[in-house]
Amino acid sequence: MTQQQPENNNEKLRVGVYVCHCGTNIAGVIDPKEVVEFAKGLPDVVHSAETLYACADSGQNQIKEDIKKHNLNRVIVSACSVRMHEATFRGAVSEAGLNPFLMEMANIREQCTWAHGHDREGALEKAKDLTASAVAKSRFLTSLDMIEVPVTQKAMVIGAGVAGISAALDLADQGIQTILVEKEPTIGGVMAQLNKTFPTMDCSI
Ligand code: SF4
Repeated sequence: MTQQQPENNNEKLRVGVYVCHCGTNIAGVIDPKEVVEFAKGLPDVVHSAETLYACADSGQNQIKEDIKKHNLNRVIVSACSVRMHEATFRGAVSEAGLNPFLMEMANIREQCTWAHGHDREGALEKAKDLTASAVAKSRFLTSLDMIEVPVTQKAMVIGAGVAGISAALDLADQGIQTILVEKEPTIGGVMAQLNKTFPTMDCSI
């Protein structure tokens, strides 16, 4: 099979793969060692290891030390959702001198062992596939720089029903200049058309 090469990057790739146990969350369903061994056979992978809790200091230190020891220029963390720990691992690789955007996660917990606990063999195959996909994607990652963009502290809320009025007041309370837009001649939306509201039966306005 021909491996597609990244378009803008001719560097020799050195990928490190870390497969997290997460206690029994992952290791209770699949054997992380099997994913580690599988990853060793993937293109450009020069180091593959298991880690008990990748997000713990010990796990992060393991990755940071290996980046230097094995001269890694891509890191794959097969663990949980990016919503959980992408920032954690971007920070860790950055502390080891690697651009934070050269780290990629494979979600083998929420999208694998949590979802397929009833099918251990299937879960293991999926964990391997997710890890292989992350490794393949990492070949196309490039270093990125964070930029700061000034934000104008001004908001527009469209629709002056109860929700719009409430949102506009919340924004204004935070000191943000707010423009409330309504197509009708009056504000209040449907609420303004009611003469009584449950449970107090008060006038709605
Ligand atoms: S990195 Fe994610 S999967 Fe691994 S121990 Fe931490 S929370 Fe669990």
